[in-house]
Amino acid sequence: MYFASDNSGPVCPEILHALTRANHAFAPSYGADDITQQAQTRVREKFEAPDAAIYLVATGSAANVLALSALSEPWETIFCTADSHIHQDECNAIEFFGGNKLTLVQGDDKINPEALHEEILRQEQRGVHGPQRGPVSITQITEKGSLYSLDELHSLTHVAHEFNLPVHMDGARFANALVALGCSPADMTWKAGIDVVSFGGTKNGCLQLEAVIFFDPGKAREFELRRKRGAHLLSKHRFIAAQMVEYLREDLWLRCARNANARARQLAEGLQQANFTLLAMPRANMVFAKMSRATYQRLKEAGVTFYLWNSMEEGPAEETITARFVCDWFITPEQIDEFLQLI
Ligand SMILES: *Cc1c(COP(=O)(O)O)cnc(C)c1O
Repeated sequence: MYFASDNSGPVCPEILHALTRANHAFAPSYGADDITQQAQTRVREKFEAPDAAIYLVATGSAANVLALSALSEPWETIFCTADSHIHQDECNAIEFFGGNKLTLVQGDDKINPEALHEEILRQEQRGVHGPQRGPVSITQITEKGSLYSLDELHSLTHVAHEFNLPVHMDGARFANALVALGCSPADMTWKAGIDVVSFGGTKNGCLQLEAVIFFDPGKAREFELRRKRGAHLLSKHRFIAAQMVEYLREDLWLRCARNANARARQLAEGLQQANFTLLAMPRANMVFAKMSRATYQRLKEAGVTFYLWNSMEEGPAEETITARFVCDWFITPEQIDEFLQLI
């Protein structure tokens, strides 16, 4: 029973087969091959974005920080939340790649447009002495499992664009958000005012696949230079591209995400029936439940693997802590039932 993260599961067999199929001959390196072209064409089609510039990288952190550094100057600050992956989980990579400072917008979880507006205004007060305004980065779904509605995306990008600031979406769980909203990739991105996306595949069944999509290709050349200088240009590029071609073929990505989301709902309903308090009913593939530290310890001893959310491992047993359960493409209804039996 493994709920630690959606990168703990295996790789989809379809993806591995695609890699084997690509493994047959010589091909140009560094992305000059046919499969890379096919991958880019497929992304452009799925996103209804014929002019988009698309780059593949191996980690989500690379996608985020290369994208954000291309969107900003070093003296600009990037607006994000206190829980954001770029702030909490990338070892200050944005400070390394872009030199930027992060400005944390107040609020719990999702960014609220008024709070963003206020924070952007605040950044101007110190003139040349203070950080200059830069891109806004949001995560869809958020690190806490919530989903921005299309209206919420529109309101946020409207605020950013009023100040001429670009908006980046960290889509490590892009497909989970997409199937939850039931809209098109274009609806959730450029039609909602998103300028650049980190489009994740690794957490949804790929081996290692993340794409950066620039809907306006103006920064494309600069991005390529940053990617190479940052040591993230893969030489045997066709093997990352083959994953993207397969991921988007016959809706593999949507099928994987639907399973993950459905399992999270099944898990949440079972936890509720067992009288656990949830932070929210899950919209996608992550469930956050409150429990005592004693319950946490018992579950761990019974062989369940999962993490705590903003809580310490050690502390008084009766104290309430929050546990995070993540479901992926691979987990089955029977495995969830087995866990619920244990509970
Ligand atoms: C997993 C994740 C990433 C990417 O992480 P890497 O370990 O660098 O691949 C980015 N953003 C969010 C919100 C994530 O959950």
